[in-house]
Amino acid sequence: MSKHYLLPNSTIGIIGGGQLGRMMSLAAKSMGFRTIVLDPTPDSPTAQVADEQIIAAYDDKEALNQLAIKSDVVTYEFENIDYEALLTIEKEVSIPQGSELLSITQDRILEKAYLESCNVNIAPYVVVVEPSDIYEKINSLGYPAVLKTSRDGYDGKGQMIIHTESDIDKAGELLKYGSCVLEAWVPFDKEISVIVARNNRGQIETFPVSENIHRNNILHQSIVPARIEVEVEEEAANIAKRLAGFLRLQGVLAVEMFVTNAGAIYVNELAPRPHNSGHYTIEACNISQFTEHIRAICGLPLLKPELIKPAVMVNILGQHVTDVNNQMGDYPHWFIHYYGKREMKVNRKMGHLTILTKDTNDALTELAKTKIWE
Ligand code: AMP
Repeated sequence: MSKHYLLPNSTIGIIGGGQLGRMMSLAAKSMGFRTIVLDPTPDSPTAQVADEQIIAAYDDKEALNQLAIKSDVVTYEFENIDYEALLTIEKEVSIPQGSELLSITQDRILEKAYLESCNVNIAPYVVVVEPSDIYEKINSLGYPAVLKTSRDGYDGKGQMIIHTESDIDKAGELLKYGSCVLEAWVPFDKEISVIVARNNRGQIETFPVSENIHRNNILHQSIVPARIEVEVEEEAANIAKRLAGFLRLQGVLAVEMFVTNAGAIYVNELAPRPHNSGHYTIEACNISQFTEHIRAICGLPLLKPELIKPAVMVNILGQHVTDVNNQMGDYPHWFIHYYGKREMKVNRKMGHLTILTKDTNDALTELAKTKIWE
């Protein structure tokens, strides 16, 4: 009988050599798969833990073709890769996450239109092409509003908050990079995310909702369980499941959302891959987002994720590394992950650590006491 899943020793090709690819590769290798990574940087975080690396640009068609020939299945670890280039290899190798999901999530305008068509609640927005559009349309949204480039934005790059009319000219400079989305400010109480997984048999599972705290638009901490009402938690999981179904997802998808004081949920963004806010799953759940992703893209059955213990995850950026290293001897219960990046830069994600705890407030107090993240 033919199997509908990939067997161990099959090769998984990974486009992108960052920390997400690294943790995907580690999960894949522990399941007996071989991995091969395509990234322009030699010795990338993923290459360090993969069987093979192809050093080439993400849009290098010849290199992508090589990856396709050598792989039984191909996955990507981030969404800013060349859609056209991916299309060219999709005929040769299975890319379960698919090029369509990529095209939607790498373009905010398409993503918003898609979310609307799925009937999920999003912040009111308009598409703007030139600065005069902002002057014309901002009153329909009110102040403050957020201007976001449609493409190539991450960790808050390519965004500007417009507090008053006097900010419009400066914000309008973002239009140099192409059409933008002008979005109403959501006075949220909490930011949360749900990692949802789906396989080719239509099985869908969600991970526990994570409460996310950002600093300078970069994820700082994830707190799980999120400190929200049970009904909001259930609704968030249902939204994520609905989206996974609509998208015919194969793999994992992160759904970022805002929650207001009244418990209203607004979907902010989708990421069609494992996500920083799901790193806590490595130690805190019975299965990690990375293992679930590998299972999903290989057509294996998914495991229903369960939280084993409440957790707090905190990112280790370049400016935190020395202090973490100096203090880690005092905290044997910290699960520390480093990504093998040679060059330490301010705000560069170098690693993360997770604390399992009975009470997330205790872990937050402990982290505050270290003064590392002040
Ligand atoms: P994004 O790149 O869309 O995830 O935005 C980065 C961060 O900016 C979010 O995590 C929020 O903290 C903030 N942000 C973005 N859009 C809005 C909005 N419409 N209302 C309030 N805060 C926002």
